[in-house]
Amino acid sequence: MIWLRHRFLFLLVLAGSLGATYLLWQHEKNSVAQVLRATLDFNLRETSSRIEQRLASYEQMLRGAQGLYAASDNVERRDLRAFVESLQTGSDFPGMRGIGVAPLVLLKDRSRHISELHRLGFPDYTIVPEGRRDVFAPIVQVEPTISPSWDAMGYDMYSDSVRRAAMERARDSGMAAISGKVSVPPQADRTPQGAFLMYMPLYQHDAVHNSPSTRRATLVGWTFVPLLMNELMASLYGENEAATKFRIYDGVGLTQQTLMYDSGHDDGRAPDGQQLSANEYIVVGGHTWTLVISAQDGFDARFGRDKSQLIAITGIVLSLLLAMLTWQLSTSRERAVVLATEMTGELRAMAATDFLTGLSNRRHFMAGMADELARLQRLDYNGSAVLMLDVDHFKQINDSYGHAVGDAVLKHLAHLMQGSLRKVDLIGRLGGEEFAMILNGTIGSAAQTFAERLRQTIADTPLMHNGQPIPVTVSIGITDMSVVDANAESALMRADEALYCAKAGGRNRVEAVTEGTKKLILSAELRPGSMA
Ligand code: GH3
Ligand code: MG
Ligand code: MG
Repeated sequence: MIWLRHRFLFLLVLAGSLGATYLLWQHEKNSVAQVLRATLDFNLRETSSRIEQRLASYEQMLRGAQGLYAASDNVERRDLRAFVESLQTGSDFPGMRGIGVAPLVLLKDRSRHISELHRLGFPDYTIVPEGRRDVFAPIVQVEPTISPSWDAMGYDMYSDSVRRAAMERARDSGMAAISGKVSVPPQADRTPQGAFLMYMPLYQHDAVHNSPSTRRATLVGWTFVPLLMNELMASLYGENEAATKFRIYDGVGLTQQTLMYDSGHDDGRAPDGQQLSANEYIVVGGHTWTLVISAQDGFDARFGRDKSQLIAITGIVLSLLLAMLTWQLSTSRERAVVLATEMTGELRAMAATDFLTGLSNRRHFMAGMADELARLQRLDYNGSAVLMLDVDHFKQINDSYGHAVGDAVLKHLAHLMQGSLRKVDLIGRLGGEEFAMILNGTIGSAAQTFAERLRQTIADTPLMHNGQPIPVTVSIGITDMSVVDANAESALMRADEALYCAKAGGRNRVEAVTEGTKKLILSAELRPGSMA
């Protein structure tokens, strides 16, 4: 029962502290996840705001170009070139492929327009793709001319639905508009990449254009910048974001067709599955982009500082220690009780034992004798013999050899007497050089034979001291203890009386006395007042 209780307590403490460890571990996991999420969100917001700023600067540039055309009816090619040169485009505007102009050309004006370009020094100029259309918006100039332009001279942007949508939005709103993803004609030195255009409408000089209808009526063309997504993003989304993957989709649908930009370092994990990722929509130039950032391998390690493993290990170790400590404390009382019981037993044994010989002392022997008497009174069997032994002339041994040798003789005798007994018999040292025995269930002549044999053994077995034998003899008084005895003392007294007879009879002999002969032995001349 007690061990069950300890085991229960042990398991309770273990379960409790492991539970607490689990909660801490989970809390750490959650907070790490929160940190990672916040870091990712921050990266996303930072990048999207950089994109917005960059696009705003392109818009500003186009506003400058728009202003150039608004200021005069007759802007010449060199004016745009000078303007672009003054912007010092270059590393400040990565991804940009120059600033271009495309006039609005109606079908009826097409031939005149082409002739005009021939006259300006472009003899091969023509509008592509060819064919009859109501309206054309051919590219007539892109500055700086040295940069390879992927929207070539004469290309009618209005013929392409993606470009056209943005152009019309710019026309009607009077503001900058960016196109959806356009395909860039493959070039020898370049892998295909996402691209888009930003348009700014150009209206007639001095005309009012404050509504969609007046804007349509007064539109003369567009100024625009073609932009390459990879180059633009390379300048915004640097190497330091290696642990994340960044993608931009045109619109809100996330498909391979609408993918405009992909930061490229993919760790091979399934996109948007278990991966930590975040989306954001930005509206630029009236057009929506979806920005997707996702964590790659290494992101957790770099930003998470996950201590959950440490918590788990420490928690488990501490839980075990705590449970073991509880076990120790809860069982220590039991162990103390066991120890106390053992000590009590030892003390009890010490209290019952004669120090010198290791036999029962007088008190313990008398108790054993009383038990034996009670037993035979209860069971009414024959009875047991009681023997009293006294060393003959022990005083002389002490006097001749000293007290220590006297002690050795007592031990020697105790050993011989104990060796002669059966397990069921009792023996004790009553005091001094006096001993007593109870032969359990043995009485009469059998007991006397035993006593005689014991006397003989002792007489035949001297103690060897310094190579010298020290002869010792004992006198023995014997009597039977039976149901008629009122108490143990009366039987012992009888044995003592028989012992006196043995002494008186010359020592080194056995004398028996029975209840019937008691009176006779107690006659006055045999016991001259020595009964103690
Ligand atoms: P007897 O019994 O034959 O009449 O002679 P005795 O010499 O034995 O006589 P008595 O009973 O008077 O002497 C007992 C002596 O035993 C007295 C005492 O000094 C000695 N004695 C008692 N206890 C011890 C003990 O523990 N050790 C030793 N060495 N001597 C003891
Ligand atoms: Mg004596
Ligand atoms: Mg004696």
